[in-house]
Amino acid sequence: MPQLLMATKNAAKAREFSLPLQGIPCEIVTLSDVGIDMAVRETGKTLEENASIKAKAYALASNLTALADDSGLEVDALGGEPGALSARYAGEGVSDRERLDFLLSKLSHVPWENRAARFRCVIAIATPKGAIDLCQGECHGIIAFEPKGEGGFGYDPIFFLPELGKTMAELTIEEKNEISHRGKAARRARQILERFTRGSD
Ligand code: IMP
Repeated sequence: MPQLLMATKNAAKAREFSLPLQGIPCEIVTLSDVGIDMAVRETGKTLEENASIKAKAYALASNLTALADDSGLEVDALGGEPGALSARYAGEGVSDRERLDFLLSKLSHVPWENRAARFRCVIAIATPKGAIDLCQGECHGIIAFEPKGEGGFGYDPIFFLPELGKTMAELTIEEKNEISHRGKAARRARQILERFTRGSD
């Protein structure tokens, strides 16, 4: 069975990926399984560029097919920010809570009807020979006025899902995967990986 490198250092992301990729015809290995501790700088301006940069770098370093994602929150009232800068929006080395408070402070005068936002996740699957496939998923919601819920990570406690009446952080991991940007992108990645492994038989 071919190996697939799950090229993320974010444990929460890896957990979310593991459910929709369960049962794929590949053995999933992590960066620590293959002894790779290298950090890849996200120098792209878009999620697509950054996901590709990460997947290519880790595929080359490991000589394995690598799956990497770049994801972010796009807020209409901020012209699509923080987008590809989501992880560094409030500066380097700040906590999830500080990042989320920074975003809330930027939206403090924005009324409910103008707080639409979306999470977007782009997955890149790269082979050591340089082939690359991309897929993405989106999830639409509203930025709440205050955080609620303990689950998930990042901006989940302020991402309100009107059709569920809850924030993303109030969902179980299974419920989040059902509707999330990452769950949708991972289900598309699964189809790519199934084609890819059929091709390598
Ligand atoms: P990345 O590791 O460069 O993809 O950074 C993505 C950043 O976007 C994370 O650090 C979070 O702040 C945010 N983000 C991405 N996906 C999610 C999610 O599912 N929930 C909450 N925040 C997310």
